[in-house]
Amino acid sequence: MKAAAFAYARPTSVARALELLGVHGDKAKILSGGQSLMPAMNLRLISPEFIVDIGALAELRGIVLKGDALSIGALTRHVDVLKSPEVAAHVPLLRDATSHVAHPAIRNRGTLGGSLAHADPASELPACMVALGATIIVRGPRGERRIPAQEFFTGIYETALSPQELLVAVELPVAGKGSAHFFQEFARRHGDYAIVGLAAQSIVASGQFADLRLGFFAVGDRPLLAGAADRLVNVAVTPEILARASAILSDELDPQEDQQATPAMRRHLAKVLLSRCVSSLLARPDLQWRAPA
Ligand SMILES: Cc1cc2nc3c(=O)[nH]c(=O)nc-3n(C[C@H](O)[C@H](O)[C@H](O)COP(=O)(O)OP(=O)(O)OC[C@H]3O[C@@H](n4cnc5c(N)ncnc54)[C@H](O)[C@@H]3O)c2cc1C
Repeated sequence: MKAAAFAYARPTSVARALELLGVHGDKAKILSGGQSLMPAMNLRLISPEFIVDIGALAELRGIVLKGDALSIGALTRHVDVLKSPEVAAHVPLLRDATSHVAHPAIRNRGTLGGSLAHADPASELPACMVALGATIIVRGPRGERRIPAQEFFTGIYETALSPQELLVAVELPVAGKGSAHFFQEFARRHGDYAIVGLAAQSIVASGQFADLRLGFFAVGDRPLLAGAADRLVNVAVTPEILARASAILSDELDPQEDQQATPAMRRHLAKVLLSRCVSSLLARPDLQWRAPA
């Protein structure tokens, strides 16, 4: 199928892009890498009347270290995140997660901003933003807003962005001393959307978590920063403490049924990921989940 007819503009400045969004409002859609928008248009799941192609806005592309934060422009492609020495050095969780996003052809076009604005609950990158404590920077008719990642994702394909706003960049705190991260997902094949996944960022000192942020994905309508992590911080983790955290996690999840998994299966996989994460970050094989004999 082909997309319905639409008007098209390729502005050469952010100001002009915002002007166009101001005029066309919710009848317009921003085109970034096109890897989610174009399939949705071709399947006629959506039929925007006006496309604002932001591909020429070079100012929205790039990765820059600013003090203790790494700033990544919205138009930065997945492949550039993967190849970036700054990302590898300062936010290695994001590099690991991006290698699980789709396949090379899609990563060559798809952008970080597009993925976050699309807000697929099974997507890796929104969960990383939540785990890393990112700030999402958007620009609109009333200027710039800085939105904590946890407040940015509001539902399935829904965010705090208004139709007149453009996501311009994200800022990620750089990993400090003692930082350790964990990324794993269950997917049918490498590159598929996750059945369940976990992006975690921690600080480990003397065999304990001084900080732990658990970003689960594909377990609800948006990425979940799991409160269960609180049970694991500043304590010597025992199998009993982990079991308690796991029970708390189970209550926090709101997994959906689809062709890939039942809610019960997703709940189970999330708990397996939690134990793998804790076991791996603390280098404690005794905490690894084992199937009942
Ligand atoms: C076969 C296939 C497999 C995939 N597998 C995965 C996967 O495993 N994991 C995963 O995370 N993703 C996956 N994707 C999606 C891919 O990562 C996309 O690149 C990403 O979701 C959207 O990025 P984009 O730049 O292509 O955005 P686009 O498709 O251009 O836009 C997506 C949406 O975001 C809006 N938007 C884009 N940029 C902005 C902006 N700067 N400000 C405001 N709104 C904006 C658009 O209007 C649109 O609604 C897959 C895609 C395909 C086709």
